[in-house]
Amino acid sequence: MKDTLIQWQGGGYDGCFWEPNTGLYDSDGVWHPIISTGRGARPEPVIDEEDDVYPITKDGLKEFRDNIRDDFFLRTLQVLEQHGYTPYWECDICKHVFDDTSDFCNFESYCGDGGIGVIHEGMICYDCHSDGSCYYCGEFQGESNLEAGFCEYCMERACEDVQDEIDELESDIEHVKRQASEYAKVVPSCAIKGYRDAIKISRELKAKIYDLKLAAVESL
Ligand SMILES: [Zn+2]
Ligand SMILES: [Zn+2]
Repeated sequence: MKDTLIQWQGGGYDGCFWEPNTGLYDSDGVWHPIISTGRGARPEPVIDEEDDVYPITKDGLKEFRDNIRDDFFLRTLQVLEQHGYTPYWECDICKHVFDDTSDFCNFESYCGDGGIGVIHEGMICYDCHSDGSCYYCGEFQGESNLEAGFCEYCMERACEDVQDEIDELESDIEHVKRQASEYAKVVPSCAIKGYRDAIKISRELKAKIYDLKLAAVESL
């Protein structure tokens, strides 16, 4: 076998959880174990019909990634790269396919594996990681979870002094919306104009809130 990646069920920890193991046959057909652990280790090549076999190509690596946790995927890619293969991987956020593991910045999240280990998931490139990290504490939260570039925690801390003001503006927005729907019930013919006005006013109020928050985080 040549230019082929093999995945098999490797050794477990605590006897209950098994790790996926990987290894490759290089272009000369020489076997190189990559992740080869415990009782399932394969210092020498083994033929087993249960194994998953992938060509070391863009498509092969894409399929391989679907079948393995991301941290093991990356570890395997790094070794493939050392052997001269192009380690194609896709950023989970921008969906760009990179051809170098040095473009990998970090994992999106991690969780326990049911045993003593941690599983890292979600591969992110440098650009997406910086776009999704809080300007102040640097913690990655994902771009959609940041407000003006700040995480909820830092935003809350920054806004402590102006929180009352923000709360008031927010309740004004609610009030304007309520008024518009009351008005629509009483004067249905003017409902649309009423809603339009309400939207305009609440936009202005929201802009005020945004400015307050921005000023607060700038003073951090
Ligand atoms: Zn990206
Ligand atoms: Zn933060």
